[in-house]
Amino acid sequence: WEKDEGGTKEERIVVSVRMRPLNAKEMEKSDPSDWDCIDDTTVVFKNSLPERSVFPTAYTFDRAFGCDCNTRRVYDEGAKEVALSVVSGINASIFAYGQTSSGKTYTMAGITEYTMEDIYDYIKKHEEREFVLRFSAMEIYNEAVRDLLSSDGSPLRLLDDPERGTVVEKLTEETPRDQWHLRELLSTCAEQRQVEETSLNETSSRSHQILRLTIESTARASKGRDSSSSTLLAAVNFVDLAGSERASQSSSAGNRLKEGCHINRSLLTLGTVIRKLSKGRTGHIPYRDSKLTRILQPFLGGNARTAIICTMSPARSHIEQSRNTLLFASCAK
Ligand code: ADP
Ligand code: MG
Repeated sequence: WEKDEGGTKEERIVVSVRMRPLNAKEMEKSDPSDWDCIDDTTVVFKNSLPERSVFPTAYTFDRAFGCDCNTRRVYDEGAKEVALSVVSGINASIFAYGQTSSGKTYTMAGITEYTMEDIYDYIKKHEEREFVLRFSAMEIYNEAVRDLLSSDGSPLRLLDDPERGTVVEKLTEETPRDQWHLRELLSTCAEQRQVEETSLNETSSRSHQILRLTIESTARASKGRDSSSSTLLAAVNFVDLAGSERASQSSSAGNRLKEGCHINRSLLTLGTVIRKLSKGRTGHIPYRDSKLTRILQPFLGGNARTAIICTMSPARSHIEQSRNTLLFASCAK
């Protein structure tokens, strides 16, 4: 808890859990649904624990969204405030964390869309300022960074800029003409990921995707006002993380093992960084231990705001992964 400029207490890291409905496959197998949200903040294990299992059966977060909640509500209550701080010059990141098929991409797509609408709405209502938007998109796979707005698949280097911190060299930045152009850019990225998802090697579940919207605004010059002193610059990052099952997966060999380790490293480092940030940012924060945290460092520390949405399936067959997700979410608090 820290005081923000307005004097009200505000949390820097908002952690929510979102349960998806059982899918057709789970229903077909009569996979029992174990988890429920009993109120706006509490997730409970509602059945009797499986034999030899001992773990807490209730977990509390800033928000808990049951399987009947739509993405609009997840956005309104779990992400909106954080995402929109970008228009006031405050950096923000929204993360989706969870095992593959738990609803990360589904949730992030909606949140990105709603944020974009609200940002354009805000711009329309603030004619006294001039806004410039920039959009970029990247993917981290095997600790290699790739530009999602360029067909050139070669890995991008990270550079340390004395003023801006870590920057991704040669990352394409598009300046959307309007809301529709931005929507086009977003769907291009989504389609590209969709192609990867349906291809045999399923890279999307093993890569982290970062969509970034940078907003710069300046007060329009008017008589007797110095506009140069009031430029605001910040970015909001939408981060669709690799499937969290990769973080615990150990029984693979060769390339797969290396890949597992890399994803492991990024997700584990992210966990450590988030945990330290949520505890008040004292001591060393190991941003430099992974590409993901290096790239996000300028947007996580200091005054930045963060929302983490942890997605899970209520199905018995996913009990181990759901437990891991709830533990990650608990540690982020
Ligand atoms: P992930 O990105 O975590 O692998 P997806 O977002 O691709 O998972 O979701 C897997 C499937 O479940 C998709 O077909 C998606 O449309 C569906 N799905 C996910 N969350 C929900 C939800 N809350 N309500 C309805 N369908 C969902
Ligand atoms: Mg996905």
